[in-house]
Amino acid sequence: AKSQGQGGFCFYSAQLNERLHERMQLEFKLRGAVEREEFFLEYQPILDSKTGRITAVEALLRWNDPEKGRVMPDSFIPLAEDTGVILPLGEWVLRTACAKLRQWQDAGVMPVRMAVNISGRQFTQGDLSKTVEDALLQSGVHPSWLELELTETCLIKNVEETVRKLCRLKGLCVSISIDDFGTGYSSLQYLKNFPIDHLKIDRGFINNVCELPDDRAIVDAIIGIAKAMDLHVIAEGVETRQQAEHLMRRGCDEFQGYYFYRPLPEEKLLEVLASKAAA
Ligand code: C2E
Ligand code: CA
Ligand code: CA
Ligand code: CA
Repeated sequence: AKSQGQGGFCFYSAQLNERLHERMQLEFKLRGAVEREEFFLEYQPILDSKTGRITAVEALLRWNDPEKGRVMPDSFIPLAEDTGVILPLGEWVLRTACAKLRQWQDAGVMPVRMAVNISGRQFTQGDLSKTVEDALLQSGVHPSWLELELTETCLIKNVEETVRKLCRLKGLCVSISIDDFGTGYSSLQYLKNFPIDHLKIDRGFINNVCELPDDRAIVDAIIGIAKAMDLHVIAEGVETRQQAEHLMRRGCDEFQGYYFYRPLPEEKLLEVLASKAAA
């Protein structure tokens, strides 16, 4: 029995070892990837619900892994967060997004806001306002075109600190959205104290807004709260016409989702914007 127990222990420890090893390898690869700039952005259009015009794009990160090809963010952002790699990576995203905006503006492309995802660690640990300010200065983009998407979970960790940090960011004149709204533990009290501009309703609620009365009630309530607080509401993950129609009736301001556009590579986005400007 004794030797079996030992065998069991060794078996698990070997497995754990392997997992740890894989993780360390991925971390190593990810760090190298940041240095080699193996990343690129795709852009998903966001539309005004009343006019159908494209008012913004959300920058979405992809990793071009030389071995595996294109890797989606859900499979590397969590590790990047855990290991701190997200700090240089997030800086790259901000710099690149602002540089692209500038390029497009110089080329006379129809102007759009650029929404950039900010991870919790970037907000709580990094000097985010400095990074944002540098990206803006370097590119020469007017701050009003830049929108930062923060999740509610990262905002409520330390409320006083959050208010201070948000005020500093607002001082730069960028706009601020709460992403994935409804999935965390937001309190209306905090919402009132935070200097934010937009709420993005999580696509988990939008998914079944037409079928599930509970989800519809939540979505309607979020839109109601946002209106009462004079916040702009964006629905993400809109996949059907029925969803868009329901949301429009409720007064949702902007739409983002596969029903309109998927995330697009830069060339495709520019084609879409050019055709919209001509129309
Ligand atoms: P998110 O910020 O909630 O971004 C929206 C995600 O929903 C994107 O997935 C987008 O492609 C997807 N989406 C949009 N419309 C629809 C739809 O109609 N149906 C469905 N099923 N999905 C839709 P993606 O690009 O895979 O990104 C996943 C997450 O990775 C993002 O969720 C965000 O949390 C994170 N992420 C992406 N880029 C960055 C980045 O630059 N920095 C950080 N920190 N996180 C990022
Ligand atoms: Ca987002
Ligand atoms: Ca979201
Ligand atoms: Ca999400």
